[in-house]
Amino acid sequence: MSPAHALKRKVLADKIVARSWDWQVCQGCEALVKRTVAHCPLCHAYRFETGTFQVIDAAFKLGARPVAETGAYLPRTTAIL
Ligand SMILES: [Zn+2]
Repeated sequence: MSPAHALKRKVLADKIVARSWDWQVCQGCEALVKRTVAHCPLCHAYRFETGTFQVIDAAFKLGARPVAETGAYLPRTTAIL
C-alpha cells in the first residue's frame, strides 16, 4: 500500500468521524456505509449498527488499519461512499 493510499484512507476516516450521523456499520461484514443504504453493497446484509460509538470506532479502525507485508488489508472494515 502506498503512503498516498494510507493518507487518503485516513482523510476518509476523519470525514466519517466528523459526520458520523450519516454513516452506519454493516453487521454482516463491518463495512461503513451511508445511512441511505438499505442493503450492504458488499455482503447484501440488511442489518446495521447506527450508534455513534460503533461508527466512530469503525472509522478509527479504517484510518489506523494495519497493512500486512504483502499489502493485504487485515481487518475487513471498509467504507462505501
Ligand atoms: Zn456488509
